[in-house]
Amino acid sequence: MWVSSVWRATLSPGRRAHSALAQLRGIVEGELEGIRGAGTWKSERVITSRQGPCIHVDGISGGILNFCANNYLGLSSHPEVIQAGVQALEEFGAGLSSTRFICGTQIMSCPFLRPQFLWANCINFLRLITEISETALQGCDSWAAGILNFCANNYLGLSSHPEVIQAGVQALEEFGAGLSSTRFICGTQSIHKNLEAKIAHFHQREDAILYPSCFDANAGLFEALLTPEDAVLSDELNHASIIDGIRLCKAHKYRYSHLDMADLEAKLKEAQKHRLRLVATDGAFSMDGDIAPLQEICSLAARYGALVFVDECHATGFLGPTGRGTDELLGVMDQVTIINSTLGKALGGASGGYTTGPEPLISLLRQRSRPYLFSNSLPPAVVGCASKALDLLMENNAIIQSIAAKTRRLQLPVTFSCVPRFRSKMEAAGFTISGVDHPICPVMLGDARLSSQMADDMLKKGIFVIGFNYPVVPKGKARIRVQISAVHSEEDIDRCVEAFVEVGRLHGALP
Ligand code: PLP
Repeated sequence: MWVSSVWRATLSPGRRAHSALAQLRGIVEGELEGIRGAGTWKSERVITSRQGPCIHVDGISGGILNFCANNYLGLSSHPEVIQAGVQALEEFGAGLSSTRFICGTQIMSCPFLRPQFLWANCINFLRLITEISETALQGCDSWAAGILNFCANNYLGLSSHPEVIQAGVQALEEFGAGLSSTRFICGTQSIHKNLEAKIAHFHQREDAILYPSCFDANAGLFEALLTPEDAVLSDELNHASIIDGIRLCKAHKYRYSHLDMADLEAKLKEAQKHRLRLVATDGAFSMDGDIAPLQEICSLAARYGALVFVDECHATGFLGPTGRGTDELLGVMDQVTIINSTLGKALGGASGGYTTGPEPLISLLRQRSRPYLFSNSLPPAVVGCASKALDLLMENNAIIQSIAAKTRRLQLPVTFSCVPRFRSKMEAAGFTISGVDHPICPVMLGDARLSSQMADDMLKKGIFVIGFNYPVVPKGKARIRVQISAVHSEEDIDRCVEAFVEVGRLHGALP
């Protein structure tokens, strides 16, 4: 397979890094042999039809009776269930690119509870959105059409892209509403295998494995891979799901100060006594918009015989010359061994996560990783949407070209000419914006109450932003996290800055 040969051909960052990878392969291949030898190997049959009492299986002609699924009432492919799914996709989009409390809550079939109603009537409780991503995508007059959304992780505006929605509808109609099963029982369809191959191809890695979310990918990786003989070295500001995943494993745990390479080196020296060493970091940190110094991390890893794991949730699809992520942006694609990322942000925004990396490791995760083994397969509509989002990115078709046309910065060819505009205008007005040139632009306010009140008043002015405070960020570091999408226009940015200035003055955050 070409991916495999590219991987092997390019992997020469240094003898120790290479030997850490060779050591990993040796250990994992031994584990796999043990599983095969014990007769506990779980292979996946590939279903080529909808879930149901009678299915089609790859390589076998004719229909097969299915006695495996948790499809107790036969509703997994019921026409009315599928139709309701199609309607929701068409009305509410492919995904929210957000968690519930930020801008990921919708109400179905309650047209009076739309943002306009909320804006006019009630702003202090649950905020509901319906057409915001679409509004931004179409670049229409967002004030007349609704509220400008600066909260979503909808980095490329694909959450409601018509081709992404259409692909979701098609997958729903062809492959049904759901699998009523985990992957290894009877929950693997051809579209899951295709999406895994596409993800591996996109990242130029050997193989990939899908999870219900990236939270699950992070929860499932460390425990499956690392033993008490090993060590994991983690940036102190890593995402909660990495922290939880590391808690679940029995390896020795080292926490290094945020982005502090001297501290990482000290911890790597201490960790020399362990068998495997795995450095774990976010590529782009979600609360501060800063970027891990992957070149330095990889060269320390090479020097001290460690492997590198990167969570690319806030990078996949838009960082680096072709949107492959932080490792591409910083020129270390051949030195990062394991990547976890999400389908729930730039890649269509529905849900789903994955690990991509060396083929034996992915095989081990299929055998051992608990969120993979014990949770339902990704629904076909979600798979269809993500698959189309990746096609759009890889084909470099009209949407990507139109986004590229707006870009000034060489490093971010597919996005975000508006990021420097927002940052410079806000700083000129007197605000402090944390981070670097990432589309995450945290407006630092310090006070939790101030950030919530300002966010509420921003909504009155037609701008949807959210205040972040403890425990999501450290005490005393409250902020409003603004997220720029590639489909925001310069007018949208200017309107957002104007609202910030007015609301900031009102609350004494600006003179
Ligand atoms: N990792 C990081 C850095 C994230 O920001 C998030 C989501 O907020 C996750 C993991 C979890 O991703 P998912 O929503 O796919 O579970």
